Amino acid sequence: MSTNTHAVSRRSFLKTTGALGALAAAAGGAASADAMFGTAPVAFADGQETTTWGHCAINCPGRCSLRFHVKDDEVVWVDTFTSKDAGFDDLQPRACLRGRTYRRWLAHPDRLSYPMKRVGKRGEGKFERISWDEAIDTAASKLKEVIDTYGNEAVFVPYATGVSASTSRPFNRMLNLVGGYLNFYNSYSTAQISCITPYMYGNKQAGGSTLSAAEDAELILIFGSSPTETRQGGLTTHYDWVRLREKTNAKIYIIDPRMNDSVMGHSETWLPINPGTDAAFVAGVAHYLIENDMVDLDFLHTYCVGYDEETMPEAYKGMNMSYYDYIMGLGYDMVEKTPSWASKITGIPAETIEKIAREIGTTKPLYVNQGWGPQRRSNGEWTAWAIMALPCLVGQIGLPGTSNGTREAIQSCSLGKLSAGENPVKKSIPCFLFTDAIDHGPEMTAKNAGVKGGDKLEVGIKYMINYAGNCLTNQHSDINKAHDILADESKCEFILGIDTVMCDSLKYCDIILPDLFRFEQVSQIATGSDHGYMITGQPCTSPKFERKTAYEMASMMAEKLGVKEEFTEGKTEEEWIREIYEGTREKNPALPTWEEAVEQGVYVEKKAPFISMEKFRADPVANALDTPSGKIEIFSEKLLQFTEGWELQDGDTLKGMSTLPPLPVYIPEWYGVESTTDEFPLVLTGFHYRGRIHSSWGFIEDLKEVNPQEAWINPLDAQERGIEQGDTIRVKNQFGIIELLAKVTSRVVPGTVAVSQGAWHMADMYSDPERVDRGGSINTLTTQRPSPLSKGNPQHTNICQVEKVSA
Ligand code: SF4
Repeated sequence: MSTNTHAVSRRSFLKTTGALGALAAAAGGAASADAMFGTAPVAFADGQETTTWGHCAINCPGRCSLRFHVKDDEVVWVDTFTSKDAGFDDLQPRACLRGRTYRRWLAHPDRLSYPMKRVGKRGEGKFERISWDEAIDTAASKLKEVIDTYGNEAVFVPYATGVSASTSRPFNRMLNLVGGYLNFYNSYSTAQISCITPYMYGNKQAGGSTLSAAEDAELILIFGSSPTETRQGGLTTHYDWVRLREKTNAKIYIIDPRMNDSVMGHSETWLPINPGTDAAFVAGVAHYLIENDMVDLDFLHTYCVGYDEETMPEAYKGMNMSYYDYIMGLGYDMVEKTPSWASKITGIPAETIEKIAREIGTTKPLYVNQGWGPQRRSNGEWTAWAIMALPCLVGQIGLPGTSNGTREAIQSCSLGKLSAGENPVKKSIPCFLFTDAIDHGPEMTAKNAGVKGGDKLEVGIKYMINYAGNCLTNQHSDINKAHDILADESKCEFILGIDTVMCDSLKYCDIILPDLFRFEQVSQIATGSDHGYMITGQPCTSPKFERKTAYEMASMMAEKLGVKEEFTEGKTEEEWIREIYEGTREKNPALPTWEEAVEQGVYVEKKAPFISMEKFRADPVANALDTPSGKIEIFSEKLLQFTEGWELQDGDTLKGMSTLPPLPVYIPEWYGVESTTDEFPLVLTGFHYRGRIHSSWGFIEDLKEVNPQEAWINPLDAQERGIEQGDTIRVKNQFGIIELLAKVTSRVVPGTVAVSQGAWHMADMYSDPERVDRGGSINTLTTQRPSPLSKGNPQHTNICQVEKVSA
């Protein structure tokens, strides 16, 4: 029987669709889930059903457990870890709505089943089936040709996050055995905050406290985070968030341009703010705290550098360069950051800023946390830094009930990984700049593009292996520009794609190889949130059609290139996984044996709450931070020196400055509330949607029906444009046009349109002169200009106009 079919019996259809409506409620672990799913096996209990464990391997920290019910070597039902006796406090890594729809993905008509080669133009999506021999031979010989012609610096493995498992980097390992490849650093998710945090806190103690630590707080401030949408699983942050809500008596504020789903049911906690202005809000709060003697001077003078003249580094004393000088209008832009000043930028009334500042100054413990949305902006490094400075101002770091203003800690089980070996190529680029490196690599330098490991690139990218990623176009920025760069075959000469399903990025590949899911092979993953867990999975069915594991594919390429023995070291993938696990178990004998791990599938490690920087707070000398001063750096001399001579563009820094600001200031965005135009009068911001993890699941019809792609628009803005709920609208700007449905709602601030990221790009790139994207991918409208310090993606920084599509 073919697996490439949608044949679904009426019985299983009713069971599945009936369950879908209740799934959102089930994720998170209420005992009622058993009532919904507990009888599932009975429906197939005719003596032939077997079950296997597997895990969700998508770029979601949940990586939840999946349980596959199999009959005649076909998956007939997918559920997850459940227990009849589960209580609210029991730890269960249950899959969310998305994970429970895997059967649709497994047997989707767009599932890749055979190797294919491109027969149309790049991006057209025309392919024909070829043999494995031809596919591997072509991919390996093109690789050799590129290395011989340009050197290994011309080879690249783009940022991709579609697979998380202990053996998820086989192609990097293979490439390292043939001379290596151009590295990348940072990520599409966290470039700005990951870059700035070490300047302030160093590397060693830079993580936040767990959400469980917030149970001791009296006041909780959360900037731009919505675990209910982004981290939905039964034992990931959504569960921790719901649990915290149940346990705490603290007052909570969620500061976000959108009343996100994590606010729902507690609407008083939403503090609406204009996108990209969090640093201005913090500056307004800081001004109030200073004026009203509410800052903790003892803490700032003992633990921090750069708050005021007394704590400035020697070389910068007497120059009005402290944080105090910035806030009080005595230095830098010479503007006093009063609550009224902040109000005009943030859209939050000055009285509200003062009220919250008073609460911050008088309520302890204070737990400050930020998601990754506020930092994924043109001013993201300074936004993240400003939020981190807030708890420092009132000394709320390293104590019970506090956090240091970064994202909450994740307490994972530990598990080793298949080594990718050492890369002989030492140069690396920011991952977001790969299209620049294809287009004009030799023009990229350390000072204009953040090249590391050398002063400049010698050659552009000529060969790419895109494994389980949709960042060539869909998840990259300015898709129209990305298309033009990738479609020119004289630039990147060969692209190899490996995935489970045909997505937009794969349409630009020259050869495509069909991958097996991690639950169609032996696989293991460790993850966690407040608590840690590990899933050990077995193949749910035999491999169908001509699909193979990525490890097999990389082995085949290694063989063609004469390095198979070094690649495999004589081991199968399963043998590697077992060896890695045994190595982990030697360090942690509490882990079950391999056989027990396979049998039980799910292993949970209960963890105590973690308070960040507790040791530093207790003894800042013995436990000094690994910053240059050993203290928290609110002013960073290191940043100033590192970026000296960098080539900056208009808007990268404060007006009148020629260097990047060495402290947490508010920088107006290039495309933000202070730079809208008559042509594009609205701000456009992205968000992560409950129906997808990035673009994963973006093609599953059932999920799209429950979570349609919509542009959130405030009733005031909609009325002005004659737009009503459910209308088809166009959102356009200088980069492109998307078409999608209007969600008219006061859950988004006036003047801002919010579009969820990850929808599948759907445009005719060759025949439609406007290239209208009817899938509604926000990246048709985002810029490839990177943020100034980390060179990260600023995909939430956009302006736009909206119009109704006439009937
Ligand atoms: S998408 Fe995330 S929360 Fe949902 S099943 Fe997969 S890992 Fe779990």
